[in-house]
This record gives sequence, C-alpha cells and structure tokens, in this order.
Amino acid sequence: MAFEGLANRLQSVFSKLRGKGKVSEDDVAEAMREVRLALLEADVNFKVVKEFISKVKEKAVGQEVMSSFTPGMVIIDIVNKELTELMGGTQSKLAKASKPPTVIMMAGLQGAGKTTTSGKLAKLLLKSNHKPLLVACDIYRPAAIKQLQVLGEQVGAPVFSMGDGVSPVEITRNALQYAKDNHNDYVIIDTAGRLHIDEALMEELKQIHELAKPDEVLLVVDAMTGQDAVNVAESFHKQLELTGVVLTKLDGDTRGGAAISVKAVTGCPIKFAAMGEKIDSLEPFHPNRMASRILG
Ligand code: GDP
Repeated sequence: MAFEGLANRLQSVFSKLRGKGKVSEDDVAEAMREVRLALLEADVNFKVVKEFISKVKEKAVGQEVMSSFTPGMVIIDIVNKELTELMGGTQSKLAKASKPPTVIMMAGLQGAGKTTTSGKLAKLLLKSNHKPLLVACDIYRPAAIKQLQVLGEQVGAPVFSMGDGVSPVEITRNALQYAKDNHNDYVIIDTAGRLHIDEALMEELKQIHELAKPDEVLLVVDAMTGQDAVNVAESFHKQLELTGVVLTKLDGDTRGGAAISVKAVTGCPIKFAAMGEKIDSLEPFHPNRMASRILG
C-alpha cells in the first residue's frame, strides 16, 4: 500500500513523543526534524515540506505546546490537521451541472489509468442512480476503444464510440448530442494521453475542452510516477484549468509523497483515489481519513 514508509516513520516519531511523560523543547525540535525527513523521504515536494514544517511550528508556538499537560498529543494533533489541510482539507465532491448532462473530461499521460478510471467512475455514478455515458476519445492508443467498451459492458454503462477514423472533437460533439437524446445525466470523456506532454496532444485536449465546456476536468495521476507527477499536473493545469485530480495505483508500493504534493502545488483538489485494478476500487478521497491512516 502507498504511504507505508511514511506512515511507519511518522508513527515511530510520534510514539516516542507519546511515550514521554515530559517533553522538552529539544524533543519537539527533534520530532520536527524527523517529520521533515520522513516527508522528504516519502517524496513529498521539497517546497511543500518546507511550508508544511513552518506551519506546524507556527501553530505549535501559538498553542503553547510546552505549557500543555500532553505536549506530545498536541503536536500530533497539529501535524494531523496540517496533513489533512495539505491533502485538501475537506472532501471535494464531483461538480454537478445546473442543467444536465454534467460533463467530465478525463486527462493524463498514457498509462496513468484514464480508461480504467473512466469505467470505475461510471460504476460509482450508476451506484448512486445516475445514467452515465462513456465516450471513447482515445483514438490513438491501440485497443483503448475496445477497453472502454469492455469496461462499459462490465459496469452496465453505454459507450459512445465512432471508431478511430473520426477526430476526438467530432466524437465529443456527437456524444453530447447522444447524451441529450438519451437523457444521460453524466458524460465521461476518455481522452488520449501520450508518454510525455506534447503540443499536439494539448492542442487536441484544448479543442475538446472548448467544445464540451466540461464541468470537471480530472487529471488522472499515477501515484507511482514520483516528482514527475507534480510537473505533469502543473503543465496540464496551465493548459486545461483542471478542476480535480484522481490518484491511481495507490495500492502499489509507492512512496506516495509526490502524489499528495499535487494538491499543494496546483491547488487542484484530489477528488478520487484508485486502489487497484478491480472495477470497484475507486473511492472518493477523504483528506482527513488519509491523514489519520498515515498517522496511525
Ligand atoms: P490510460 O492509458 O491512462 O487509459 O491507462 P489505463 O486505464 O489503460 O491503465 C493502465 C494500466 O494501469 C492498466 O493495466 C490498468 O489496469 C492499471 N491501473 C489503472 N488504475 C490502477 C490502480 O488503481 N491500481 C493498479 N494496480 N493498477 C491500475
């Protein structure tokens, strides 16, 4: 599971603090040094770490930790709150268009998990009695269309496709009409990704964006990609005005820190987390629950 290393490190720092009857200023300073190292080692972006530690210190001073009866617990509570804030504070829900359909555009690099996540999202929406339409706009990756069709069949959501001979913009235009005609209240557009960001891809995504005016632009980020996740998110955000992030592959053996830095760097909330290849492994992301999981 992701964050295991970070969780272990932080839990051991805090168990030392908890175990002490009395905590000195030096103990607190030492704990802060260890928290800083643990975050850096977990691959949290260094600027994000710097800001995080300074916020925790500021709060610790404000709350007069040392005069409390349980200074260790006060520090742990501050770190927990700041970690929750770092990951977005409160849960960020999926947008809803005032007039259906709500259009969700999925974006991200090839292999990040866009197609799989599109299917999973359709499943979540079906579960809450919505009528999603999946749209196959990834016409470049061999088998992406078929993959989406298989997922659609598996979850019981229709898939709109025009093959790979029509431009994604044209597919989107037709899909939106189809959704209106068939009363689909959510449209999930699975777009193409490349191995790296390139101009042609961005241009195409921008055209889809302009036409579809999506209520959500979700960047699908593979949590295994490390600091590159932050760079990718920044580039996509500049071009597409992202509204949210989906972290995938959190079930993998990833340090995870880069993924949780994405919110701090781009300001885009993490809306969902995917924890496996199975179709029901997508969950709304709860910053407080994730922080508690990491802190034990
Ligand atoms: P796309 O190119 O962005 O559309 O990526 P895909 O949806 O095809 O996913 C790429 C690979 O990652 C596939 O083998 C998926 O099964 C796998 N995958 C997607 N999400 C997850 C996840 O949360 N956990 C794991 N372990 N694998 C995932």
